[in-house]
Amino acid sequence: MAAQMTDAHRRFLQVLMSHGIMEGSEARKLHRRCCEIHKVYYAHDKLDDFVSTINSHLQPLFMQIRKGLSEGDGKAHYALVNLAETEITKMASDYTENELELFRKTMDLIISSENGFASSTDILNLADQLKTKKMKKKEAEQVLKVFAEDKWLSERNGEYTLHTRCIIEMEQYILSNYQDMARKCYICHSLAIQSQVCDSCGIRMHLPCVRKCFRAQTDPRCPHCNDCWSCDIPGMSRIDSQSPSKAGRAEKSFVLSSRRC
Ligand SMILES: [Zn+2]
Ligand SMILES: [Zn+2]
Repeated sequence: MAAQMTDAHRRFLQVLMSHGIMEGSEARKLHRRCCEIHKVYYAHDKLDDFVSTINSHLQPLFMQIRKGLSEGDGKAHYALVNLAETEITKMASDYTENELELFRKTMDLIISSENGFASSTDILNLADQLKTKKMKKKEAEQVLKVFAEDKWLSERNGEYTLHTRCIIEMEQYILSNYQDMARKCYICHSLAIQSQVCDSCGIRMHLPCVRKCFRAQTDPRCPHCNDCWSCDIPGMSRIDSQSPSKAGRAEKSFVLSSRRC
């Protein structure tokens, strides 16, 4: 039988709903605060149990709190997911037809890109090719901003990728709709958008997974084909703190210059 849902659980759910997604550390603080306010048993390592109690009560509503990792820094996040609609139609009530088309096209660009980013210039160039209804660039710029505010996209230095919330919600949709293009990470086996690719065998790894895999290795080799890993290891080189676009370019030039190994 499912554990009892208390006011602490309800408060946690309400706050998460209003945020859409929360980082693990925020969720842990919220867990504590909710338990204190409502004088409910609290143990710092019991957040996942607390969440599964909420989930057992959300099940009839086809909702679920799901835990996922951010592709950028590998930190855990909690997001409230709607299971009733598995497609992009999740977003249908919030956006117009041509906004959704722009989103789909942006997603295509991001997923088919080498490093999981699409430049705003490339996205804005799509605006006047929309089949549903063309958009002016200014208008499209505004729509991109809203997608970022609503946590479907995340933007850094004019480059867009899928927000962690979007990946948590749409992983299954993306894997079944993009088949060949959408690849899984060789290490953690979940969908990998922001990632590095082995130059020889084509396996993909998330940046945090690359970091973990090659920790303290002086001669990083692909865990699949054993060839030299041709990308810069994030966190072990000077490009780590740079923008994704610069890092992307640096990766590419590094690939070219390291062919000899
Ligand atoms: Zn991974
Ligand atoms: Zn390889």
